[in-house]
Amino acid sequence: MEIKTAKSGFCVGIKRAYNGMNRIAKTREKVNVFHRVSTSAQAREWDTLRRIEKEDSELFEEYPNLVNVSVIDNPSMIKSGDDVVLGFHGIEKPVKEELLTKNVDIEDLQCPFISRYNSTLEELTSEGYNLIAFGRKDDHHCLDAQSVAKAYGRTCVTVEKPEDINHINFNAENKWACVGSVTGNTVLWKAVVSKLNENEIEIKIVETVCRDSFKRQDEASQLSKEADIVLVVDDGGGASTSVFEVCSSVNDTVYRVSSKEDVKIEWLKDISSIAIVGGILVPQWTIDEMASYVNTLHSYQ
Ligand code: SF4
Repeated sequence: MEIKTAKSGFCVGIKRAYNGMNRIAKTREKVNVFHRVSTSAQAREWDTLRRIEKEDSELFEEYPNLVNVSVIDNPSMIKSGDDVVLGFHGIEKPVKEELLTKNVDIEDLQCPFISRYNSTLEELTSEGYNLIAFGRKDDHHCLDAQSVAKAYGRTCVTVEKPEDINHINFNAENKWACVGSVTGNTVLWKAVVSKLNENEIEIKIVETVCRDSFKRQDEASQLSKEADIVLVVDDGGGASTSVFEVCSSVNDTVYRVSSKEDVKIEWLKDISSIAIVGGILVPQWTIDEMASYVNTLHSYQ
C-alpha cells in the first residue's frame, strides 16, 4: 500500500512564534507566554502552548530553549511590570489594552496574517464599510468581524458559500467590503470572490485568507485526488475543518482522526493508497508517526 503524507506540518505562523520564543528564551531564565485559546476543547488540547506545558520531547528537540518557557493560563495572573510573550494566536484587543495599562512589557509573536486580518476589520469599518465575512458562522475570526462591525455601527454578514450572497440586501447607499477568514476553505473563498465580482454594486475584496491555508489545502486536495482513502489528523481547529472539507470535495472516503487509536483496520482493506494530511496544530512528526502506524496496521491484514 502506498502512503502519501502531507509535508505542511505546523503552519508558518506557529513556526514563527516557536522560533521567536526559542530566541527570547535563550537569553532569559524564565519567559512567560500567553495567548488566546480556542473555545474547542480538542483544539485546546492540541494548542501550541499546551504542547510546551506537556514538555513534548520532539518539540523541545527542535526548540531547546522552550524549557525556560512558562505558560500562563489566565491574563489576570500577569502583574504590573511583568514581561509577557504572546503566542501565535495573539490576544483580544481589550485584554491587550488592559495589560498595557498595567505597564506589562509585551513581546507580540501573533501571526502576521491574523494581525493583518484584525487591522483590516478595523480599517474597513472605520472607513464606513459594511462587511461580508467569509467563513463558518462559528469561526472566531468571523465572530470577531461581527464584533468589530457592531462597535463601528456597521452591518456584518457572514457567508459560508457563494449562494449565501443571494440573501444579502445590498443597497447603493452603503459601501461594502469582503474579507475571508484566515483559515477558511480556499475553494469556497475563490467561488465567493468570483460571485462577488459579478455583483452590480462594487464590493471591495481584501485577500485575508492566509498563505498557509492555500498551500496546505492545495497539497491536501492533490494528495486526496491521488489516494483511495484519506486520513485528516484533526486538531479540532478551524483550519482542520477546512482541510477536511477540501479533501471531501475530491475524495468520497475521508476520515477525521485525532490519534492512532481512532484508525480502524477495516478502513485499510482492499485499498492500494492512502493520504495522510493534518491541521495547522499537527506537527510533521505526528503525520510521519501516523504513516508508520498505518503501515504496521496494514501489514496485520
Ligand atoms: S493558519 Fe495562517 S493565519 Fe493561522 S496562524 Fe497559521 S499562518 Fe497564521
